[in-house]
Order: sequence, then structure tokens, then C-alpha cells
Amino acid sequence: MSTEKQEIESICVHAGRRDGNAGVVNAVQPSTAYQYLDEGEQPYPRYFNTPNQEIVVEKLCSLENASAGAIFASGMSAISTTLLTLARTGDHVVFQRSLYGGTYAFATKEYRHSGVDVTFADCEVSSIVDAIRPNTKLIYVETPANPLLDVVDLKRLTEAAKARGVITIADNTFATPINQNPLKLGVDVVIHSGTKYLGGHSDLCFGAVLSREELMQPIREKALLLGGNVNALTCYLAERSLKTLAIRVRQQNRNALRVAEFLEAHALVKRVDYPGLPTHPRHDVAASQMSGFGGMLSFELVDSVCPKTLVRTLRLITPAMSLGGVESTATIPYETSHKPIPVEERLELGVTDKLIRLSIGIEAEEDLVADLDQALGAMIDSKGAV
Ligand SMILES: *Cc1c(COP(=O)(O)O)cnc(C)c1O
Repeated sequence: MSTEKQEIESICVHAGRRDGNAGVVNAVQPSTAYQYLDEGEQPYPRYFNTPNQEIVVEKLCSLENASAGAIFASGMSAISTTLLTLARTGDHVVFQRSLYGGTYAFATKEYRHSGVDVTFADCEVSSIVDAIRPNTKLIYVETPANPLLDVVDLKRLTEAAKARGVITIADNTFATPINQNPLKLGVDVVIHSGTKYLGGHSDLCFGAVLSREELMQPIREKALLLGGNVNALTCYLAERSLKTLAIRVRQQNRNALRVAEFLEAHALVKRVDYPGLPTHPRHDVAASQMSGFGGMLSFELVDSVCPKTLVRTLRLITPAMSLGGVESTATIPYETSHKPIPVEERLELGVTDKLIRLSIGIEAEEDLVADLDQALGAMIDSKGAV
């Protein structure tokens, strides 16, 4: 059914719906073997072409204003397949310095081993553009980025990249298609870890690449060789999750802003990183390209408070890796995602020992604030703050 003129909430629910179904829900078609088809017909569905995969792709294309796309077995499968397709030995790729750890590892290990030259730049457009060389094929950014919520000006970046014939890729995992549509801002390829907000319930692993046919066709060809395919049941659950994406993300936007404001005013908090706060260094850019600021935020505690003790004192917010679920979670980046990075390098990235990252869920905002309030209060009363 056509979703061209629908608002995003309706697209979440209806895009990809197969009319003529007896039920209002699309059927799961798990078959990986089909009876022989007549010559000239479509090949039998298995890799990247099953009915359930196509339904999810259709929904995501509608949400991101893409004309073509594919889903993968994980976000990393989406990222590695795309990066292996669009740059080869002898090419050069510019990456934003603050990146999801797996992407950073791919750039520094896999790319370098296969003879792709890599430069890291900070999130200023001028730094990224200055890094462009005659053999630069790709610019890869993540906005907002993990864990300090850096923001890249996508419109200015893509104008500069287009003028130089460089393809731009944006990881839109943190923003979600509800808050930001990079393709509308001129980006060529959008990537999602569906494991996070798109799945949204901390129980699915998948990824997505959304773009136009000219770029998707070689990505799909590479995907057939690498084989990061998603099964029908995961697709079915992803489709189901996407129906509530808009209402989940709107609630997460509201909750995160409230939590950010609470933390910013607290005496034991040195700094809060959230693009929705006017104190964020790129709040204006975020406000111009995002319709909501997302559910992710980080904050730095004053020196006297131990982040481990604080996280252990939380009752509602759960210490857990990953993000984007309906439940609020907390991580200490220096102990988890940034543990493998040498200390000096980590500090240069701004990831101190006092940093806590929150993924805000869909609970009631008063309960989230009350939980942080009691935990921070306990740090004042006890040895947490020495
Ligand atoms: C988690 C994550 C990924 C990787 O996704 P997986 O589905 O875990 O492979 C990529 N980018 C960002 C921003 C992420 O948070």
C-alpha cells in the first residue's frame, strides 16, 4: 500500500502491509526451499529476498525516504558489507573519530589490512573536508555519536562531499528515523543497528542499509557473498517492533530531555552531553537537523563520586551494555565499550573515568528522575563521595 502521503506514525504501522492477507498482520514465511519455478521467474527466496525481509525493507525505506535498502543479521554486518563494497585497495576513507567501537575496529583493522587508507577527523565539517584526498571514496559519520553525543552538520557536510564526488554514509542508530532523516539532508547511505531502537526491546539483532538502487545493487551483490542474512522470525518481530517506533522514540525523547535537565542542575554532575540541551556545543545544528533529540545521553560526575558505586545504587535504571530498549540502562564507557582503547587515546576522545552513559527507556519520567535522585543522594550521604 502507498505510504507516500502518510505521517510517520502511520508509516510505522502500515508500510509493508500486504493487502489481501486474511489477518491484519503479515504472515511469517520461514521457508528456505521452494518448489521449482518456471524459467525466468524470480530465484527462490533465501538470501536478502524473502517475503518477510522485503516487508521490513519496505517499512524502513518509507521511514528513511529511501528508494532501496537491505536488512542484515546485525548492525556490524550492515556496516562491514557496505564498507567492503564501496571502497577497495588504494582508496581512502575519512571516518569521524567518535564512532561505535565495532566500526572503529573495522576501520583500523580490516580496512588497513586490506589496503584501504583511513583518516579520522573530529566532527567539525571543516576537519572532515580537510581530510579529503584525491583518492577519497567515502566519508563515514555517526550523528549523534557514541558516547559523547557529538553532532555532525549533515547538510554542510554533504554539500562539500558532493562537490568533491565523495559518497557519504551516516550511522543513524542513535537518532532513529523518527528524529532524523539523513537522506533528506543529502547523505547517500544510511545505516542502522536495528538491534537498538528499531527492535527496541533488547531481544533482536539486525541491521539495515538504506540508499538508492545504484548503490544498493553492488551492496546486495557483496551481501550474497558475505551472507549476513536475517531469518523470517526476526523479520516478523522487527516489523512488529517498528509499528511502535514513533511512540517509543517520542517518549524516549521526552524522558531523556527531562533527565538531562535534572542531571545538569545536580551538584555532583560536572557536565551533561545531550544534543537537546542549549549547553551542548552543537545544539543549534542538532535543532536544525533533528526533530527530536533522542534517548541517549552521557554525564560526567565530579571527581569525588565513583561511577561504579553510583550505577550499583540505581534501582530502576539497569547497568547493561547495548541501548535503545524500552528499559533504561546505564554503562560506564571506560569499563566497557572503551576498555580496549589505550588510556591517553581514550582521554583524548573525552571518555574519562567519571563518564556514565544512559539509554533512556519509556518508563515514567518522574520514576527515572527519582531513581537518579536517590542514587546521587546516597553518594552525598555515604562513602560514594569521599
Ligand atoms: C550497536 C551499534 C552498532 C552495531 O550494531 P550490532 O547490531 O550490535 O552489530 C553500530 N552502530 C551503532 C551506533 C551502534 O550503537
